[in-house]
Amino acid sequence: MKLVYLDNAATTTLSPHVRDTIYQYMKYSFGNPSSIYSIGREARVVIEKSRKKIADIFQTSASKIFFTSSATESINTAIFGAIHSWNIKTFITSPIEHPSVLHTLTFYQKIFHFQIQYVRLLNNGQVDVHSLENLLIANKPHSIGVILMHVNNELGNVSDIFQIGNLCKTYHAKFICDMVQSLGIYNIDFSKMPIDIATMSAHKCHGPKGIGLLYINTQKITPLLHGGNQERNMRAGTENLYAIVGFAEAIELAHQNINHNLQHFSILKNTLLSGLQQHLSNLIINTDIHQSSPKIINVGLPINSKTEMLLYHLDIENIYVSSGSACSSGSHVVSHVIQHLPHKIAQIPLRFSFSQENTLLEIDYTIQALIKILT
Ligand code: PLP
Repeated sequence: MKLVYLDNAATTTLSPHVRDTIYQYMKYSFGNPSSIYSIGREARVVIEKSRKKIADIFQTSASKIFFTSSATESINTAIFGAIHSWNIKTFITSPIEHPSVLHTLTFYQKIFHFQIQYVRLLNNGQVDVHSLENLLIANKPHSIGVILMHVNNELGNVSDIFQIGNLCKTYHAKFICDMVQSLGIYNIDFSKMPIDIATMSAHKCHGPKGIGLLYINTQKITPLLHGGNQERNMRAGTENLYAIVGFAEAIELAHQNINHNLQHFSILKNTLLSGLQQHLSNLIINTDIHQSSPKIINVGLPINSKTEMLLYHLDIENIYVSSGSACSSGSHVVSHVIQHLPHKIAQIPLRFSFSQENTLLEIDYTIQALIKILT
């Protein structure tokens, strides 16, 4: 079997359609979108058409969509802007957010001296919404920012962002939602979602790397980058036209095929899970399978001589998955997400994440390879 790539939550292949579209613009469109002569104006039109395409798919206005270099930059902008424009005194988040949220918060805390409070997790690894409400009540007199992700990138667990967003509204808190892993999985309709700011990245749904999106459903916030007046003064720096075009095409493709893709992911996920459960009696399931993205499943195996080098053995079999752990000097350090799971079982975690390119044959091959390595 040639390469079996099951790490689509880390990144995805570039769609051939997206690649070909980008290539056409690379060949013919080189103008600076800020130049006022015709080739500059043409480049500007391309960007604004892409922005409008994305806004229409997400049921929002193009004026609320801004392009950045990555979801990480979008999150940094959202956090800095929230501190500066909204004078946030308390950020409420969860201990299992992406490092782009957790590390940015702790970095800015040293400069701006706000509080960071963490919601409790339920036994299934989901955010405890009662704990969120208690924190909102306790911090009520201050300006509060809530930063929680929609789909957890390691576990695949899905939070109820309507419930969270409505709670934030009730207590006049601002809600910033990391929606990086939602792309291509959920029909995103911002006209109905109680979100103040959302962040995304193109390379998680077969778009190019190095392009992020920031949705701001409020007055504009203070930008992170200063210089030219690109992105209506929200993000200085000449726009990455090619990546913007590719992002719009990738979102369009993902939304056109969403139902078909979801069904496909579910079949792959269920087949893999039942195959592993059948053959590996000591399998730990880290994902809340009742409320999770069909694209991601995270399981764990007890640490022993066979599991310690599991990722390398899978690599030899041409299977690429993620472990959520870093192996340093022979000792396994599991990720902050696995460490915060209430069940606290010592394990080697394995995250499998799918794309429409994966097949049942690949899943079967992966199950057989794991059985061969582990038994
Ligand atoms: N948030 C989540 C949930 C992610 O999975 C990732 C990337 O893995 C990011 C943020 C950061 O995205 P990027 O690396 O594209 O900036």
